[in-house]
Amino acid sequence: MNDYQLKFMELKRELEQSEDDVDSVAALYEFKDFLEAQDTSEAKWVLTDVCETLGLYRSAFETLRSLVVRTDKKAQRRLAKLKDMAWSGDRFALHRPAGGKDRSRQAALLTQLPFFRYHPNPLETEAFLLADPPKTCECCGKSVSVYYNGPFFAVENISCLCPECIANGRAAEKFDGAFQDEYSLEDGVDDQNRLDELIHRTPGYQGWQQEYWRAHCGDYCAFIGYAGYRELKHLGIADEVLEDSVWSDWGEEPEELLKDLVNGGSVQGYLFRCVHCGKHLLWVDCD
Ligand SMILES: [Zn+2]
Ligand SMILES: [Zn+2]
Repeated sequence: MNDYQLKFMELKRELEQSEDDVDSVAALYEFKDFLEAQDTSEAKWVLTDVCETLGLYRSAFETLRSLVVRTDKKAQRRLAKLKDMAWSGDRFALHRPAGGKDRSRQAALLTQLPFFRYHPNPLETEAFLLADPPKTCECCGKSVSVYYNGPFFAVENISCLCPECIANGRAAEKFDGAFQDEYSLEDGVDDQNRLDELIHRTPGYQGWQQEYWRAHCGDYCAFIGYAGYRELKHLGIADEVLEDSVWSDWGEEPEELLKDLVNGGSVQGYLFRCVHCGKHLLWVDCD
């Protein structure tokens, strides 16, 4: 075993023993930065393991693809498995703790985007992706480096919208579309302007099934991201989401169901936060 592999085994053990605490997640991300800076295939093989462990499936797939040779059947099978998981991109990954390199780059980019009250972190959730080379927004015709990657319910098939055209409502108006189905929302919001902002001026998210938007304190919640039990524990809010009354509809043992949630797995959690009181609420569906 080489030094990279030994270091990876050590970090992985710490991660498992600590149940994904912040320090061990940060340490694994730092090791990832280190491996990315190396130019050897030994480092790249281990980088694939690190990315897979963090849930960065697209990155793991792309790294492995550059290494695998046709005759290596075992690696080919692993590549095929990662390819299946890579469709979801890196949005199910364990989040990098604040202060890391990716975070600060993302934070800088986020300041250039319009602010979406009901979807405050659209880069992290991959509702927006970076376009390199730039793409053309089908609404305003401008060349853009960030484009929308979520659902848009319209008659025409629109593949590229820019953040501005979503925020100012022009995309929804021009194509008579919506980013969230207005019949798949939690009750309790009477304000028509809030409804309009949510369905016409807010980027949506991607559920396994029909996306559903939670509400609390008379307003729609902010969509925070995709979450499994591991992420909820990591954020320290597993108990908080269980206080929610919807769990009584999910059966006798809500805590057992919560433990079945795996990010990117067949039972998926979608995390929301009340924009008024800050309470975290979950929506769950299955593939
Ligand atoms: Zn545009
Ligand atoms: Zn609230």
